[in-house]
Amino acid sequence: MTTTALDPTSNHSQAAASPDHKRVLLLKPRGFCAGVVRAIDIVKIALETFGAPIYVRREIVHNRYVVNELAEKGAIFVHEIEEVPDGQRVIYSAHGVSPAVREMSKARNLKVIDATCPLVTKVHIEAVKFAKQGYSLVLIGHRDHDEIEGTLGEAPEVTQVVSNVAEVDALQVPDPDHVAYLTQTTLSLDEARDIIHALKLKFPNIVGPHSQDICYATENRQVAVRNVAHNAGLVLVVGSTNSSNSNRLVEVSRNLGTVGYLIDNSQAIDPAWLKGVSTVAVTAGASAPEILVEDVVNYLRQSGFASVEEVEVMPENVRFGLPPEIIQAIGTAGSAESVSVR
Ligand code: SF4
Repeated sequence: MTTTALDPTSNHSQAAASPDHKRVLLLKPRGFCAGVVRAIDIVKIALETFGAPIYVRREIVHNRYVVNELAEKGAIFVHEIEEVPDGQRVIYSAHGVSPAVREMSKARNLKVIDATCPLVTKVHIEAVKFAKQGYSLVLIGHRDHDEIEGTLGEAPEVTQVVSNVAEVDALQVPDPDHVAYLTQTTLSLDEARDIIHALKLKFPNIVGPHSQDICYATENRQVAVRNVAHNAGLVLVVGSTNSSNSNRLVEVSRNLGTVGYLIDNSQAIDPAWLKGVSTVAVTAGASAPEILVEDVVNYLRQSGFASVEEVEVMPENVRFGLPPEIIQAIGTAGSAESVSVR
């Protein structure tokens, strides 16, 4: 496999690739983000340090392969806190939880380990701050997503969720001059921009976060697809159907006119998709492990896409520290070196 930095002037075009020279463009950055790495490490360290069972509220990250792997190691995934026996240890997923969940955990005397991504926590803190300042809050995101459920719970009495421009038109607030907005971390950059634009037209004095809430990983993976999609006849996004950021990557590709599909693994590829295609771009959502990307690339190689070129659109070197509960637990167990999570 060759690796190149993306040169926008280079001729990576689908049209230019001869039918005999079928190739894969493997986008970078792709796959695990810092929040997902941290969340998975937390579950693995907790299992090694405390032993099974460790309860995890909701999917730790939205990927079936990851969840199954951790379940095999002894993690027990539950939907609600009420399913965790009193006094047991529970891990909150990377998507965060509402204060009501924290209260419930306290009432049941649970030992909590918080794997909420720090970039989601940042949005929670902003929600609390705006609510305390008396703003009506507009939360841009998908109502059924775990992250929105958690953020909404910070100030439910003053928060309304919108997921498209039409819903902005229908918004009603007590004081149109005292409105703030926040967004889910894994939205489409284009869609969020349009919704924020509509909000600013409706509420000219609306305020927002200091820096955008859409996280670096979501943005970088979308930018990579945007840069490469026009050079490919097909974009394959490795990720699970409930992964918000993975779905957005497919949308970015389709909005640019390139056919895109979300696939959990190579078994989800319909061979008909590859007919007449000489260049396939492959990326992965922030919760999809590299082993599944390798599986897809191997399938494509066996299907005649002999050349695999990694296209690095931008470098990405973000890491998050572990939460105090885990650092403390590692210390109690002996030393950090005694716990191997890889
Ligand atoms: Fe955190 Fe972004 Fe990864 Fe979500 S996608 S876990 S917000 S870094």
